[in-house]
Amino acid sequence: MSPGPATQSFFQNVMKNFDKASRYTIHPKGLLEQIKVCNSVYRLQFPIQTSDGEYEVISAWRVEHSQHLMPTKGGIRYSADVNEDEVMALAALMTFKCAVMDVPFGGSKGAIKIDPKKYSVNQLQRITRRYASELAKKNFLGPGIDVAAPDYGSGEREMAWIADTYATLHSESADAIGCVTGKPVSLGGIRGRREATGRGVSFGIREACDCVEDMKALGLTPGLSGKRVVIQGLGNVGYHAAKYLQESGCLVVGMAEREGAIGNPAGLDLEDVMKYRIGTQSILNYPHATNLARTADVLEMDCDIIVPAALENVITAENAPRIKAKIIAEAANGPTTAEAEEILLSKNVLLIPDIYLNAGGLVVSYFEWLKNLQHIRMGRIAKRFTETSTIHLVEAMERLTGKTLSMTEKRQLAHGPDEEDLVNSGLEDTLIVAYHAIWEISKSKHVDLRAAALISAIDKIADAYAKLGIFP
Ligand code: NAD
Repeated sequence: MSPGPATQSFFQNVMKNFDKASRYTIHPKGLLEQIKVCNSVYRLQFPIQTSDGEYEVISAWRVEHSQHLMPTKGGIRYSADVNEDEVMALAALMTFKCAVMDVPFGGSKGAIKIDPKKYSVNQLQRITRRYASELAKKNFLGPGIDVAAPDYGSGEREMAWIADTYATLHSESADAIGCVTGKPVSLGGIRGRREATGRGVSFGIREACDCVEDMKALGLTPGLSGKRVVIQGLGNVGYHAAKYLQESGCLVVGMAEREGAIGNPAGLDLEDVMKYRIGTQSILNYPHATNLARTADVLEMDCDIIVPAALENVITAENAPRIKAKIIAEAANGPTTAEAEEILLSKNVLLIPDIYLNAGGLVVSYFEWLKNLQHIRMGRIAKRFTETSTIHLVEAMERLTGKTLSMTEKRQLAHGPDEEDLVNSGLEDTLIVAYHAIWEISKSKHVDLRAAALISAIDKIADAYAKLGIFP
């Protein structure tokens, strides 16, 4: 994905935030330096044959930022605009994200420098398989080494190709498909992954809005009900975040997509806008909204919460002074530049940082990896047992009270958890626990939530390094 208007390197931006947070820790300078750097940067080029028989050289990367916990974990971006700096920044964010969320992985990221829309499915498959085999050859892919995942421009289809390529090269490994997450459910993927990031975004915003003290400081009422939200980007993350926020009582008053932005202070019906967009290929001129002059104007709308869910570097020193929202919920990776953040914090805006807020997909990917290593669908063993024992309990209560429930009522009470229930429960719990952990740090050290999340991450990573010692 092409960086937004800011000229500062994305990696520098991430490290500027790291430096700011590390001042609140007591770790040796050298150890902090070790945590900052990308441990391994693999830049590769390989040829593919084009449809007219010519050669085309494809550039790609895999960056393992930190190997303090193994395997490392990170998505693969397919984009013509990608560069090494961006992959390094995203790999570092993965390290911090894993640590904040207590997901026991180091961070990594990969990229293939192509516009996937310009290639046939057959060519994309050959590029993906060649990339996967190159990574496997150099030990940059594997269930215990480095676990790939989808990112911008890639999805379940590419992950299935990667799993199959790796499994073909490692036919002796029973865990081979654990080399990648975000696979189709029929190939070892997990239910609830597709919605996980957006769902996690809505949980994180809910936790923030439930804090009476913070809402009072912002001049807002606690809770999600009636909060006016603006969403930039209606892709996987933005759509699901909007869906769950709307279901929780928020009003989505503005939306932006590539083609433009629309607004309605009374609220927009997400599903209806999506249906309209499928019909017309655009959200513009949606009958129950007004078109905004420029797409980016959506960020400056009168609202309570902005959810940037498309690109990095979209909130900059240029537009930050005009932002009216009290809460910025970073669903995308790196949407706010460091300069913009300073301006917003001085305006008392609550910024819920990407390394916490959009980690829902990572959390559920961890569950998928566990499922692959365990070779069993979550809930498969306990579901019926839970249902039967709950029914026995209900029947015992019926005997004691002399009152009876219908079989339908009993079944509703006794619903045993299936895979999706467990995934959503684990996701919600992780988002709640992590929010309160970083909130406590933010209050005790008088820092913003991003600094607090980074302090939490730095402390955990430093502790791991200190206990690991240095080899040899
Ligand atoms: P996506 O491709 O599904 O959605 C992005 C959407 O943004 C697309 O619909 C695109 O048309 C739209 N868009 C592009 N330019 C825009 C513009 N200028 N204004 C408004 N909309 C624009 O991607 P995604 O998976 O939803 O990811 C979005 C962001 O969230 C990225 O920063 C990604 O790194 C981050 N993220 C994604 C996940 C995940 O699980 N998918 C997890 C963590 C972080």
